[in-house]
Amino acid sequence: MNELNRRRFVEYLFAGAVATGACGLATSGLRTRTRRVIVGGGPAGAAAALALRTARPDHPVLLVERDPRRLGRTEARTFERPAAGPDLDILRRAGVEVVLDDVVALDWKAARLDLFSGRSMAFDRLLLAPGTTALQEPIAGLDNVARHLWPAAWGSAREARRLKSQLAALPEAGHVVLRLPNDVSHPAAALNRALNFAILLDRKYPRGRLTILDGSPGSDLVERFHNRSTLLGLDPRADWRTAANGGTVLRVDATRGEIETNAGLIQADVVNFVSPQGAGSIARAAGLIDTTGWCPTDAQGRSTCRPDVIVLGDARKEAKRTVAEALRSAKAAALILDRA
Ligand SMILES: Cc1cc2nc3c(=O)[nH]c(=O)nc-3n(C[C@H](O)[C@H](O)[C@H](O)COP(=O)(O)OP(=O)(O)OC[C@H]3O[C@@H](n4cnc5c(N)ncnc54)[C@H](O)[C@@H]3O)c2cc1C
Repeated sequence: MNELNRRRFVEYLFAGAVATGACGLATSGLRTRTRRVIVGGGPAGAAAALALRTARPDHPVLLVERDPRRLGRTEARTFERPAAGPDLDILRRAGVEVVLDDVVALDWKAARLDLFSGRSMAFDRLLLAPGTTALQEPIAGLDNVARHLWPAAWGSAREARRLKSQLAALPEAGHVVLRLPNDVSHPAAALNRALNFAILLDRKYPRGRLTILDGSPGSDLVERFHNRSTLLGLDPRADWRTAANGGTVLRVDATRGEIETNAGLIQADVVNFVSPQGAGSIARAAGLIDTTGWCPTDAQGRSTCRPDVIVLGDARKEAKRTVAEALRSAKAAALILDRA
């Protein structure tokens, strides 16, 4: 038996074994086909599911997404992350099996995923596209209450709505603070966020103030912000502070609207507190992240922790974290698996 045939034969036996008892999610009986399971139906995961199914209709493709609103395209709304992949109809018509559930654990040995609903699912080939998740920060006072009162709105539509309603109630001479972490995960989104606030103040609250607390030692964002503000004819009073000159947050008291920085105390009316991000938590649980909190991969997206797994989109360490790049990573994965 040559190497390729041996591998296919082992896959065949393995697939049959792990499919048994998969709570109705696995196809019954022995299979020679490779069951590809994708976790995460943002632009990267959904586009990869469609591309894989289209390229190799003989292989079952299963996509697990916990939030159905992430499937399909949505208009870009202020403070919200865009949805830009194929929708449920397109995926189902192409033969992708879509499971609306949350993957909570992964067992490499048994090649199975555990879902929030209590079901369990077998996979032959796994692709992870879980996006990002907020990381905890050791800042005094930054507890769940503070996170509720000062929504990050960095991917959560609910938080975006809360932030919008807080801004709608801003006092005439109110103070808006945008806090950015040291290593901002999506620089373009951070720049847009700062500009959105500047535009809002300029148009609706000319007596209002904007402070950006940027925990980084400095980046081109400051200059890009000032250039864009000038081009848009915005009030130049926005105060962008980097780590050394007051951008570092030491302590917060959200109920009083207080932020203590390395340059003194700030009183704010609305705070958009963005935390540092890392790869989505299932990547962490699966042991696919390194000390940076992101998934190291090769240029094609193969995990360097487990080369049999492909990581797509924002979760990758070197990702640029834009929709276009997420879609590119989906195409690259489909190419690799098409050749496999
Ligand atoms: C505030 C903000 C604004 C942005 N604006 C723009 C913009 O204007 N233009 C642009 O190009 N890019 C923008 N981006 C970046 C862009 O949204 C991302 O690069 C892109 O969405 C990445 O796609 P993804 O599929 O890798 O991850 P995501 O879009 O984050 O999708 C990951 C999906 O995985 C699901 N998931 C995670 N874990 C599990 C699990 N365990 N089980 C089941 N499902 C799971 C999540 O529900 C989510 O739907 C923005 C990002 C942010 C944060």
